[in-house]
Amino acid sequence: MSRLTEEKGGDILLMMGNEAIARGALEAGVQVASAYPGTPSSEIIENLGKAADERGLYVEWSVNEKVAVEVAAAGSFAGLRSLVAMKQNGVNVASDFLLHLGLSGTRGGMVLIPCDDPGALSSVNEGESRHFAKLLELPLLEPGDFQEAKDMTKWAFELSEEIKGLVVMRSVTRLSHASGTVKTGPLPAEKRKAVFRSDGFVIDPETGPVHTMPVAYWHPIQQQKLKKAEALFEQSPFNTYTGPVEPELLIITSSACTFYSKEAVNVLGVEDRVGILKLGTTWPLPRNLMKKHLSASKKILVVEEVLPFLEDNVKILAAELADETGVKQFFGRAEATLPTTGELNPDIVIAALAGILGIDYKPVPQEFEINANMLSFGNAPSRETTFCAGCPHRASFWGIHNALAMDNRKGFVCGDIGCYTLAFLPCGFSTLKTGHCMGAGTGIASGFGQLGRFGMDQPVLSVCGDSTFFHAAMPALVNAVHNKSDIIMVILDNSGTAMTGFQPHPGLKASVMGDDVPDVDIEAVCKAVGAKTAISDPFDVEATEAALLDMLRNQTGTRVMILRQKCALSPERKGRKYFEVSIDENVCLGEKCGCNRLCTRIFRCPGLIWDQAAGKARIDEVICAGCGVCASICPSGAIKKAEVAK
Ligand code: SF4
Ligand code: SF4
Repeated sequence: MSRLTEEKGGDILLMMGNEAIARGALEAGVQVASAYPGTPSSEIIENLGKAADERGLYVEWSVNEKVAVEVAAAGSFAGLRSLVAMKQNGVNVASDFLLHLGLSGTRGGMVLIPCDDPGALSSVNEGESRHFAKLLELPLLEPGDFQEAKDMTKWAFELSEEIKGLVVMRSVTRLSHASGTVKTGPLPAEKRKAVFRSDGFVIDPETGPVHTMPVAYWHPIQQQKLKKAEALFEQSPFNTYTGPVEPELLIITSSACTFYSKEAVNVLGVEDRVGILKLGTTWPLPRNLMKKHLSASKKILVVEEVLPFLEDNVKILAAELADETGVKQFFGRAEATLPTTGELNPDIVIAALAGILGIDYKPVPQEFEINANMLSFGNAPSRETTFCAGCPHRASFWGIHNALAMDNRKGFVCGDIGCYTLAFLPCGFSTLKTGHCMGAGTGIASGFGQLGRFGMDQPVLSVCGDSTFFHAAMPALVNAVHNKSDIIMVILDNSGTAMTGFQPHPGLKASVMGDDVPDVDIEAVCKAVGAKTAISDPFDVEATEAALLDMLRNQTGTRVMILRQKCALSPERKGRKYFEVSIDENVCLGEKCGCNRLCTRIFRCPGLIWDQAAGKARIDEVICAGCGVCASICPSGAIKKAEVAK
């Protein structure tokens, strides 16, 4: 039994935010949970997957976020409590179904947990899910600490059943991935039986079919649900106020910004001048509660990440209430008291608060930061952004880059989202030339592949990972085949959703619950839709370059090259070398080598290091993952490899 499944409750445990959310869902009696992996959300489903057997849950990694919501919705339609989690980008993917689910309503309590990534610490944008809640007319909750992450999750299911609609509970990286103490509650004993009623009257929300028509009937009902949520929010214990009755300045905040706001007030010692209204229910805003607090202060500072969602909504409400509360002076993003991009931190909030209050606060001087950076730069080993030692993507991009150079027609590669996005950088030989959302690489390539009729004679390639192939690239491939697009789609198949921690995908025989499940053959899918296919091992550099060159020069139409080699950090490869690799100092050319040390300056595997004293390259035996690829790229044959006995 894990601490997640301890039934009695009452323990005070150190929990990661995502673990607390999973525990809250278990305490609520969740029975169905689904997600597509994405940092910082992945641990929610991983934890529920671990509890699946013991608690009798159904948990899955779905093929993408839209399907994940649909799977969870089925659980809800059958009367069960269901949860769906994703990173912020996933809400974009799922928004089509979400718009309709908001309208049709739910039955068993259903909670959507998007985890946003302010500062884009592990994302390619800092998009916000909060705006979707407003757009989709769904109630929005935001936990402000770890205890709330658990308690609010449980309450979100109750709210969903009260209003018969989907509830959104947004987390952020600093909450999902940080840890704090959480007091657990009991786990419920009873399990619901799944029954889907569809035989009732056509607009009966409990027994009729579940759909959005007639829209004119359901839309006002959806808005009534939102009104009901707003009324419940008025008394919510997740909205709290600390500070004087009539503060000189009122901070309105939510989520992880609660920590920064509290610290700022504490550091400046202005507890008697500043109040903090921490909102856990951020859409719709509880009007009466807001009126009470807006009436008590003339100056308002809104502290949130990233865009002015709360600020805009509070301003609209303040304008509506101006007759009763008086006109306010607002500080926040709009007039640049706080930055409009990136994560906040206590320093930023302290400086903003000091500025408003006229406190002569001296933050750490800029020179200190510069000196600290210089010192760490000078004394720590340089670590550039690069692929891991032995990563198959480095070898793949080496092959792609060289094949395009040999082809010599200015061919280019449209990129996608995964570890391989790094191939924009020198570590991937700057091979990628476009980069947007999942699946977009092949979609864009499909468009470029039509431009030959307008004189474009450059070969067009796209890359995507194996998980991305299933998530969003398959429709783009079908589009390319159907419209006779002249492209090569390169699938970088490293046997898992590596970037987010090796979650299984439909190409593998494993599920999050540990079951044996059928694998879907990527090559068979590509062939079935009509693409010409080939498979190569990127560690066989010569064969991969030759196969790509053959596709470039001798084939037309939609072609797929699958470059298949396991991720260096996968459980199958981690700590196991294919080759012992060494450098023959007598053969190594050192500085005289092509491109001035081809292996360390161009190929850039972290397992290769430069021995300044000897003027030769060396293998760092601790870091080297034994892929053997560098032996193929050394022009003088100085890098030797010997197969490791299996
Ligand atoms: S064999 Fe060479 S390329 Fe492979 S991990 Fe070791 S140093 Fe890097
Ligand atoms: S090992 Fe090979 S590639 Fe590296 S510096 Fe020596 S000769 Fe050049």
